Amino acid sequence: MTTTPHTNATFDQIADVIREHDDFVLCGHVSPDGDCLGSQLTLHHALKALGKRSTCVLVRDEPVEDALSFMPGMEDMIPAEKFEGTCEVFMGLDVPTRERIGAAVKILDASTTSITIDHHEAEERMCDYVYVDPDCASASMLVWEVVKLLLPQPPQESALCAYVGLATDTGGFRFQNSDARAFEAAADLIQHGCDPAYAAVNAFQSRSIPSLKLEALVIDRLQLFADGQVAISWALQEDFDRLGATKADAEPLIDCVRSVGGTRIACMLREQDGHVRGSLRSKDDTDVAQLARELHGGGHKAAAGFTLDMPMEEALTLLERRMCELVANA
Ligand code: 5GP
Ligand code: MN
Repeated sequence: MTTTPHTNATFDQIADVIREHDDFVLCGHVSPDGDCLGSQLTLHHALKALGKRSTCVLVRDEPVEDALSFMPGMEDMIPAEKFEGTCEVFMGLDVPTRERIGAAVKILDASTTSITIDHHEAEERMCDYVYVDPDCASASMLVWEVVKLLLPQPPQESALCAYVGLATDTGGFRFQNSDARAFEAAADLIQHGCDPAYAAVNAFQSRSIPSLKLEALVIDRLQLFADGQVAISWALQEDFDRLGATKADAEPLIDCVRSVGGTRIACMLREQDGHVRGSLRSKDDTDVAQLARELHGGGHKAAAGFTLDMPMEEALTLLERRMCELVANA
């Protein structure tokens, strides 16, 4: 288990801090995905089982992917800006930096103490107690370890939500992060009451028609460069509007771009809130987080993202050049 230099607490210490307090706010990141929501809900169910008060916040008032709404407890999520209670312990799950927690910064700053449990490498220590393991496939696996320290028999809901986090962050156990530890965690979660087929049907086989139509468009626009090593596609706001697709429907599109045979790195660009949001993925050892950071974003070596303030056409040209340079130098 490799932790970052910013890790300053053990799971035991984090479990002790949790035992000593009663009011919790659990927070994920902007554009919430299965792992950030799953991590929040894994702990939420455990805290409720312990008789503590727990509030899960969305850092922006934005809809989450339909396919994730089946997770038990999703109905308890509230936008951070609507939170009015007291927060003794602020917990940043699957998120290491202040710039990724939007309106929840206020809750963090007003909290008595704070805890990060994450698998993103970052230069910043956002919370008082920090546990970051970048080698771990999902943040939810780490949260699950803490939950098992807190409860001899964790709720089945926790096991399901942790599994959804793990299954989505590993692309259904297909990405490079699907290592022995990830499969062991999956087995452990199933033994604790998670039904993997139920999770798979809901998380991976419940897409909307507009989302699939958007994917068809993205396939149609797919461009390959550097002898097919680089794949890029894109979608405009008007495509979403015309097809009735939501922002959340864009999340699976990068998985389609990366699936082209022979490509090493993939990029999906989409217009969002007047910016261009980019997702980068690597299928080998190429470090796309480096490129994302150069574009003022971040993420993991094999999965990273960024936001650009430029027209789509310019963003496409920029990414084509930078991605071709990246594969030429790697
Ligand atoms: P996605 O492409 O799914 O939005 O993001 C891939 C990974 O990169 C996720 O782990 C996400 O948290 C991280 N990421 C995406 N965009 C950004 C960004 O703008 N800044 C940072 N620091 N991380 C990002
Ligand atoms: Mn994650």
